[in-house]
Parts: sequence; structure tokens; C-alpha cells
Amino acid sequence: MLQVTNINKSFHGKEVIKGIDLSIQKGEVVVIIGPSGSGKSTFLRMMNALEFPTEGDVLLEGESILYRTVGNKKVPRKEKELSKFRAEVGMVFQGFHLFAHKTVLENIIEGPMRVRKVNKETAILEAERLLQKVGLADKRDQYPHALSGGQQQRIAIARALAMKPKILLFDEPTSALDPELVGEVLLVMKELANEGMTMAVVTHEMGFAREVGDRIIFIDQGVIVQDESAHHFFHINNNNDRIKRFLNTISRNVV
Ligand code: ADP
Ligand code: MG
Repeated sequence: MLQVTNINKSFHGKEVIKGIDLSIQKGEVVVIIGPSGSGKSTFLRMMNALEFPTEGDVLLEGESILYRTVGNKKVPRKEKELSKFRAEVGMVFQGFHLFAHKTVLENIIEGPMRVRKVNKETAILEAERLLQKVGLADKRDQYPHALSGGQQQRIAIARALAMKPKILLFDEPTSALDPELVGEVLLVMKELANEGMTMAVVTHEMGFAREVGDRIIFIDQGVIVQDESAHHFFHINNNNDRIKRFLNTISRNVV
């Protein structure tokens, strides 16, 4: 489904992603963990063309989301093409990123109408179906500020789904939430996974990782330190000391 080939990323000469390769299969749930500053967000942002790598490429079903080929040269795609790919590789952020001045419904129909050229009536029907799915049908005409963080994140998920993405990326989707609101968001994500949605999830929720993840990837200082099945990661205790230390730290911080 999605393939990342040997990507590097530097900011102002400082290398933050150092040669990452990754293939995500259709229907797979890949959980990405790692210390703060290790490059997880930068990595996800490159998978949805929000950031261009310094080297390497990102392929969606074999096609580069970043470059088009002109003759035998690779040329960066224009903004219009990039937004088409961003619709196919959905992204859910830690801070929700809803449009504050739009209602819940308007938040959800905006992308499909603008990018996918769906007509308003169809977009509304689909938005209502998605609101039902995330359990927020009654919030259709509210503004984001009237909703809890957990509800806002479920709306953000509905908005991403409205674009009919082939894969959904989540960047610490529950890290900004009060503890009692984490479960409702994880439940929606778990349902999506059960329905076969392809997902890459940066999270420290190890319960979710264990229950829903097919593969666990540990990133540290811009490289993949470990990439293996969730079963292997959790049930066969061969994690290296670096990972053990990290897991200890996050389990101590859990409230
Ligand atoms: P993580 O999500 O794992 O906490 P990030 O991908 O956010 O890590 O950041 C990795 C490194 O890249 C950090 O050192 C961060 O300061 C740096 N970085 C991220 N984005 C930028 C940017 N736009 N400009 C400069 N440095 C950046
Ligand atoms: Mg991050």
C-alpha cells in the first residue's frame, strides 16, 4: 500500500531522519513508538507529503506521492497534485486541527467538496454516516469549541475518513487528551482497524499497540531500531536495552 524508500530528512543541515525504509501492507496496523524528538512526526508528515524528504521517496500503491517523472527526471509535484495524495493518505494530528469557525458538519464536508469534487448533498449524507460511526451524530451543527477533546478528535477522524483515504496516519492522537477521554478515541481507532483500514499510528498507548497493532516499529534518533510483529514484540522478550528503558519510562508516566 505505502512504501517509504530510503528517506533522509535534514533541517538546517541537521539530519533527523537517517535512511528509513518501510513498507506498509494493505490492512496492516503499524504502531510507531520512540522517544520524543526521535523523528516520528517528521516521518509521518513525509508519508503524507506535508514535508519533503531531503532524499528518498514515498510511494502509494507504487506511485510517488512527491514527484512526477518528466523524461527521466523527477520533478516535485505541484500543490494541487500533493493535495490529491494528501486526501488518499489521511492524517489525524495530536491537536485535532479542526477549523474553529466551521461547524462539525462543515469541517467534514469541506475536503470532499473542495478536493474530491463531491457535490454538497452527497458530502452531507456521507458526513452524517461518519458522524453516526464515531458516535457524534447529535453534534452535527455544533462548533468545535463546544466539544470535549475526545469528541473533537473523533470529528477529526470522521473528517479524515470523509476523504476516503487508502491509509490513515495518526500522530499521537490521544496525547493531548485528558485520561478519561482517551478510551473513546482508541475505541473508534480499534473499530477502523477491525474493518480493515490500513493505519500507521504513533502512540504511547501500549495497550492499544498490543491489542490492535500488527507490527511495532521503534524509532530512535531518526533510524528504525526494531521492526517486528506485535506478537514478537510483546510476547517474546527479546527487546534490546534501549527499548526496554523506553518502555519502562512510558509505563511510569502512565496516569
Ligand atoms: P518526534 O515526533 O519523535 O518527537 P519530531 O519529528 O517532531 O520528533 O522531531 C525530530 C527532530 O526534528 C527534533 O529534533 C525536532 O526539533 C526537529 N524538527 C522537527 N521539525 C522541524 C522543523 N520544521 N524545523 C527544524 N527542526 C525540526
Ligand atoms: Mg511527534
